[in-house]
Amino acid sequence: MRKTFQRQVILEELRVTKDHPRAAELYARVRHRIPTVSFGTVYRNLRMLRDQGLIQELTLGDEASRWDGNYSLHYHFTCQNCGQVQDLEVEPDSRWEAKIECLTGLAINHHRAEFYGLCSDCRN
Ligand SMILES: [Zn+2]
Ligand SMILES: [Zn+2]
Repeated sequence: MRKTFQRQVILEELRVTKDHPRAAELYARVRHRIPTVSFGTVYRNLRMLRDQGLIQELTLGDEASRWDGNYSLHYHFTCQNCGQVQDLEVEPDSRWEAKIECLTGLAINHHRAEFYGLCSDCRN
C-alpha cells in the first residue's frame, strides 16, 4: 500500500511538470510530500515506471538522466547555455522509419530525435 502510494506520488510529480527533472531534483519535490522517502526508493520507482512504459528516461549526452512524465513520442530541445530541456511542439515524423527501413532493410521499432542550440532567453 505504502509502496504504491510512493510510486503514485512520483508519477504525479512527473506528470505535472514539463521541465524534465533529474532524479535528484525530483527527489526534492517528492520529499515535500513524503518526508521519509529515500533517494534510492525514488530512483528504483523511476526505473520501474520506465519499464512499465509510463514515463521516459532521457539520456542526453553523458549527463545524468532526465525523466519525462509524457511517454508519447515527442522531440526535445536542449539549451547548450542554460541546460534546460523543453518539449518541441512539432509532430514527430514517422516517415523516417519507413524510409530508413526501405534503404537499409532494418526493422525499426521507434526513433528519437534531440535538438540542441540556444533557448529564446539565452539567445537574447
Ligand atoms: Zn537557455
Ligand atoms: Zn518531454
